[in-house]
Amino acid sequence: MSSHTDDYLDGNAAAGELSKIFAVDITTAQGQCAHCGATGRFAETRLYMQSPGVVARCAVCEHVLLRLVNVRQHVFLDLRGMTYLSLDTSQVQGS
Ligand SMILES: [Zn+2]
Repeated sequence: MSSHTDDYLDGNAAAGELSKIFAVDITTAQGQCAHCGATGRFAETRLYMQSPGVVARCAVCEHVLLRLVNVRQHVFLDLRGMTYLSLDTSQVQGS
């Protein structure tokens, strides 16, 4: 009702930007372990899939880099174990 709400958009407006990130093949992304500082491709991590979700651990120090858990229609993604994750957006169609 108010013009004061024109300063922002709702979260749906981020869909285009976020799709550029999450549509890429994450296995080719470069990441850095927040624990030991090792860098490498995500494909080189140690992946454990016997838990309720997926856990990726550093190949050097075995620190947890990523946790992904599916709960019904929701996916919970925990990236605290990585200093960064660098994605190559040139692979994405339309970018
Ligand atoms: Zn590490």
